[in-house]
Amino acid sequence: MLSYKPNPLILKVDTPVEGLMLQFEAFLNEAHRLRNAYASSLRLLVGLETEYISPLDIDGLLKLLDSHKGRIDYIIGSVHHVNEIPIDFDLDTYRRCLDSIPLPIHVTDSTHTDQEHERLGIFLDMYFDAQFELLSRFQPELIGHVDLCRLYTPDLRLHTYPRAWNKVERNVKFAVAYGALFEVNAAAFRKGWQTAYPGDDVAQVYLAMTPLMATKFSSTFS
Ligand SMILES: [Zn+2]
Repeated sequence: MLSYKPNPLILKVDTPVEGLMLQFEAFLNEAHRLRNAYASSLRLLVGLETEYISPLDIDGLLKLLDSHKGRIDYIIGSVHHVNEIPIDFDLDTYRRCLDSIPLPIHVTDSTHTDQEHERLGIFLDMYFDAQFELLSRFQPELIGHVDLCRLYTPDLRLHTYPRAWNKVERNVKFAVAYGALFEVNAAAFRKGWQTAYPGDDVAQVYLAMTPLMATKFSSTFS
């Protein structure tokens, strides 16, 4: 059974959106102050990680990037919600997210196991489609924790869900084509995984599409 420790970095504060915006602007100001202060010895890049809870976030990010044009060097394209519910907060919230996904009529008469399989398949479809929307609209320089959708099911082999697997390949192919990098995120170890994000199956897709990177990996670990 996967043991999961709550993320100590997540602050449960009741901060209004305006307060978060002020906090973000303070971060940008401080980051640029440091960039200038250390310009002679360091090249600091200033970035942000995206969110996609609903289409409103796409519009919000467009406005944010526009209002801080020239001050944000790169973005990390990440999705942490499906059906507008967090998928990485805790196990109960993840289950609530899965339960919120409506089943198509044709499976409502099938067994509980089949229904759960279908529900998880739709969940994966929604996650990878939101990720693709983010990639298409913003072409983030980095793709964050690409397979966060299986945080609580690390043994899930994505190719056993053919629709989702096609979307994984589509997303990786699209990102590689415009030159994105994929984050290798060690937070997965803290959350009970045996690997970092991405899991080995997704990493293999990436390496197969970037032969030069695959050569570097094999020479590093051989
Ligand atoms: Zn994240």
